[in-house]
Amino acid sequence: MGKVWYIGAGPGAPDLLTVRGVRLIGEADVVIWARSLVNEGVLEHASPDAEVIESTAIPLEGVRELYERAVAEDLRVARVHSGDPSIYGAVMEQVELCEEIGLEWEIVPGVSSLGAAAAAIGRELTVPEVSQSVILTRRASRTPMPDGEDIRSFAAHGTTMAIFLSAARPRALQEELIEGGYALDTPCAVVYKASWPDELVIECPLEELADRVREAGFTRQALILVGPGLAAGGTRSHLYSPRFSHMFRRAKEREDAP
Ligand code: SAH
Repeated sequence: MGKVWYIGAGPGAPDLLTVRGVRLIGEADVVIWARSLVNEGVLEHASPDAEVIESTAIPLEGVRELYERAVAEDLRVARVHSGDPSIYGAVMEQVELCEEIGLEWEIVPGVSSLGAAAAAIGRELTVPEVSQSVILTRRASRTPMPDGEDIRSFAAHGTTMAIFLSAARPRALQEELIEGGYALDTPCAVVYKASWPDELVIECPLEELADRVREAGFTRQALILVGPGLAAGGTRSHLYSPRFSHMFRRAKEREDAP
């Protein structure tokens, strides 16, 4: 029958994959990976007998051929995606192809660059009473943004934003964030190649974002985080407050609904 697993290969570090992802890569007859997105080190989990294919070397027709071979020869295919496949993973076109060919498929979650970037700056993205939501988005490029999903309208919420795929035009991004309503001194962090050996971090106020990104020369593999929560500290989480009641504790004096 054959089967393909779309595996979240994590942000870069070869030990930032799930145990399941590592096992399935190790058991695969064929491993497909993209050099531009995935750290080559992740391939150390592949079996020495596996056929390793660099995906930029094959067009979609080549993928079809490979999947047909997987069905015919009962092959286990591991297709490794950067971060978590659910975020800008371009998995759905692959899945359609599998359905068409009759190849079984499954998605294996991974560690997104979102978590890796937050870890790199040592921050939580949700801070009680400051920011309780995270907006994951990107700027329009060749891929247009659907109506109502432009940076300005998201910025108007004033919460934490994680902006993928958008380091190439930092000036336009900065302008849109400010026009949307963030204050000029809103804290920002840009994490380049989170968890790779050459990871770099910029932390600056929003008004310096574009200059700092330009100066550093980041155009890709950078995640941009913006929001007042990035500098806010010290607000005590209700979860650990003695007055907050949850599963095992009753509040001494009820202050807030969970
Ligand atoms: N599925 C991936 C995102 C793929 S889109 C995930 O879950 O992370 C590619 C974008 O993700 C890049 O433009 C960048 O914004 C971000 N990205 C991926 N890996 C990254 C890393 N190691 N460090 C910083 N940003 C990264």
